Amino acid sequence: ETEGDTNKPDGISSVIPGWFSEISPMWPGEAHSLKVEKILFQGKSDYQNVMVFQSSAYGKVLVLDGVIQLTERDECAYQEMITHLPLCSIPNPKKVLVIGGGDGGVLREVSRHSSVEQIDICEIDKMVVDVSKQFFPDVAVGYDDPRVKLHIGDGVAFLKAVPEGTYDAVIVDSSDPIGPAQELFEKPFFESVAKALRPGGVVCTQAESIWLHMHIIEDIVANCRQIFKGSVNYAWTTVPTYPSGVIGFMLCSTEGPPVDFKHPVNPVDRDDVCCKSKRPLKFYNSEIHSAAFCLPSFAKKVIESK
Ligand code: SAM
Repeated sequence: ETEGDTNKPDGISSVIPGWFSEISPMWPGEAHSLKVEKILFQGKSDYQNVMVFQSSAYGKVLVLDGVIQLTERDECAYQEMITHLPLCSIPNPKKVLVIGGGDGGVLREVSRHSSVEQIDICEIDKMVVDVSKQFFPDVAVGYDDPRVKLHIGDGVAFLKAVPEGTYDAVIVDSSDPIGPAQELFEKPFFESVAKALRPGGVVCTQAESIWLHMHIIEDIVANCRQIFKGSVNYAWTTVPTYPSGVIGFMLCSTEGPPVDFKHPVNPVDRDDVCCKSKRPLKFYNSEIHSAAFCLPSFAKKVIESK
């Protein structure tokens, strides 16, 4: 064991020396491994163990409680999809709320949208913000946008206090439902999200893997169908360093002007659209937007039956 909470894994493997292995009850019987060049940071916040290491294949890696949150090489797939799937589905988004996402990557992507006037973020753990600014400047660059206002606190409590109908879009960039993010997967939280959205507003939440977590996805879909009276959809993408190599998103809209998520109306993939970092989009485009909603038959059957 190294520094930090000894009851929680940090993933530095006793299985393969010199490798990080992602061992968790969330994916029993499997553990994706990355070769470690150097451990750059290890700390314990009030909420979780925080670690950064240099990998040989994916650049720097941010790990919370033994679970990979992002790597420099493939973070684009996740950040671009969780942001542009909702924001490109509505015309002129103005007010956006991000829950979680302390690394700043979602902020970086939201800032590509010139219609946006206000970007609020509520992250529970200040250490994630500080560590990202220190080790992942190309991700934390999102904080440089003057439209961004950072609130350190619990996203559940933050949303409860939001006046009804405030946001055009809410993006829930959470960790897995073990630890501080647990409530972000529960029905009362989705109810507060719906209340915080304007009519025809949209939410996109991190919604786990169709290979590993169909039972969690089923519950989320069932809850969302009860709460969101516009539309309820599941989309997914590839992120090689996430367990099973894929991650899903729940995209819902509230009653009001209809939102057809499968056909983006607000394209962001023009050559002239750049965020502060001036990095062009690496992953998202309008074709992959529509394709993200095509599901394998086994998942389609379950999701459509809910
Ligand atoms: N953006 C990332 C990526 O590229 O994959 C991954 C996830 S992000 C680091 C998840 C964040 O959600 C963490 O920083 C965690 O502290 C935060 N979080 C967990 N529970 C929360 C809560 N209840 N309220 C606000 N933030 C929370």
